[in-house]
Amino acid sequence: MDTIETAAEAAVLPVAQLCAVTKSYPIAGGHELKVLDNIDLAVNPGEFVALLGQSGSGKSTILRCLTGLIEPSSGRVLANGKPLAGINRDASVVFQGFALYPWLTVQQNVAVGLMSRPLVRAQRDAAVERAIDLIGLSNYHAAYPRELSGGMRQRVGIARALVSNPRLLCLDEAFSALDVLTAENLRQELIALWRTPDKGLSAVFMVTHNIDEAVEMATRIVVVFPRPGRIGLVLENKLPYPRDDKHPEFQRLVTIIHETITTLTLPDLPPEVPVAGQPISRARSRMEAIPLVPVGQILGLLSILNDTPELSNIYDISDEIGHEFGETIAIVKAAEILELVETPKDQVRFTELGRRFVAADGKSRRVIFAEQVFKLRIFHIILALLHEFKEVEADRVVHDISMALPYDNPEKTFDTMIAWGRYAGLMDCNPNTRTVFVPHDDEDADGGHG
Ligand code: ADP
Ligand code: MG
Repeated sequence: MDTIETAAEAAVLPVAQLCAVTKSYPIAGGHELKVLDNIDLAVNPGEFVALLGQSGSGKSTILRCLTGLIEPSSGRVLANGKPLAGINRDASVVFQGFALYPWLTVQQNVAVGLMSRPLVRAQRDAAVERAIDLIGLSNYHAAYPRELSGGMRQRVGIARALVSNPRLLCLDEAFSALDVLTAENLRQELIALWRTPDKGLSAVFMVTHNIDEAVEMATRIVVVFPRPGRIGLVLENKLPYPRDDKHPEFQRLVTIIHETITTLTLPDLPPEVPVAGQPISRARSRMEAIPLVPVGQILGLLSILNDTPELSNIYDISDEIGHEFGETIAIVKAAEILELVETPKDQVRFTELGRRFVAADGKSRRVIFAEQVFKLRIFHIILALLHEFKEVEADRVVHDISMALPYDNPEKTFDTMIAWGRYAGLMDCNPNTRTVFVPHDDEDADGGHG
C-alpha cells in the first residue's frame, strides 16, 4: 500500500532516515553499552547534513546505522522511504583512514567500489574513468598508493565512493588526517561536486568533530549529545556558497555550537557545600566520566597555561595547542575534574592547587595528582577494591566501571584510569596476567589516603 514508486515521490522522501533508533553494544560481563538513544534523523534530497559531537558521542554509529552497515537495536531505518534491509546500495562511505589496497593501482582501487555491481567491462571502465576524472586523479591511473600523498590517497577513497554513482555520499572524519591546505581544497571540491546539478549525487552526510568544517560545508548541522548519543541541537545554515568564515552568520553559528559544547562539557556548577573532615570535590559527589586523555596532554595543557598567561579562553587555547576543539575540551575537562583548573564560562584558569602543581617538581606533582585522582568517585571505587584484594582481574575492574558509568566505554575508561593511576603510583595493570595491582613504592609507602 505504502510502496513508493514514482520518481517524483522519491525526490521528496528522505534519502536516508533513522526513526526512533537506539543502539546498544554488548560489553564485558553480559552487560550492554547504550550508545544511541531514540535518534530521529532524516537526510533529505539536496541536503548537506553535518553531524558534530565530541569523540565517543556516537557519530560513527549513527552513520553506520544510516547506511545499513550495522543494524540498530530498535527503531527503523528507511532509504528513500522504504525500510532498509542490509547495506544501502544507494549510499557510499568514505572513512578517515585511507583504506586502499597497496597492491592495486589507483584505477584498480577505484574499481573496487563497483565490485558488487553486475557491470560489463566497458561500463566498469567508463565509470572508473568518470570518477577518476571527477576527483582530479587523471594522471594517476597507474600509480600505487605508496606513491601518493595523503591528500591524493584520500581522493582515491572519494573516487572509489563516487564510482558507483551513489545518491548519498557519507563521510566519516574524511578530512581530519589531512594537512590544512589539502583538506580545504578537498572540501571545496566536494561542495562543488555536490552542487553540480544533473548527476546522481543528491545528498551528503558528513560526520566530523571540526566545527568550522561543518559550518563551511553543511546546509544543516546536527550536534550529538553524548552518554547516550542523542540529537542535541539542530541548526539550519542558509549561507550561500562559497562561504566566508568572516560573515557574521558564519561566526554566529560557530559561536552557538562552541557554547553548546562548552556548557555541555564544562557546566558552571554551583559550589559544593563542604563536608566536615572531607576534601571538597565536585567529582566526589557525582559519578563523573573520565575524559579519555593521556596524562601527558593534561601536563601539556597546564604548562601552556603557565607559559602563556594571556591564553585564558578555551577557543584560543584550542587554536594554540592545535587540537580540534573537541579534543581540547576533553583535556580541559580532565584538568578540571582533577581540580587543577576551573572553567567559569569559556575561561580556563588555574586553581590554587593547579598553580602549586605546575610549580612543583616531578615527585610532588605525582603526589598531588594521586590525591586528586583519589577523590574521583570511580577511582575511589576501584582503589577500594584493590585495597581489599591487592590484585584484581582486569575484567572485574572493567565490569565495575561499566556498572558505575553505564554510558561510557568501560575498556577505554579502564585504559585511561590505568594510565592516570600509573602516573600517580596508585595502580597499574600487568598485561600478561591481565591483573590490576598496587605498585610498590620503595621510597615511601603510599600517600596515606583514606
Ligand atoms: P564517535 O564516532 O562519535 O567518536 P562512535 O559511534 O564510534 O563515536 O562510538 C560511540 C560509543 O560506542 C563509544 O563509547 C565507543 O567506544 C562505543 N562503541 C563503538 N563501537 C563499538 C563496538 N563495536 N562495541 C562496543 N562499543 C562500541
Ligand atoms: Mg567516529
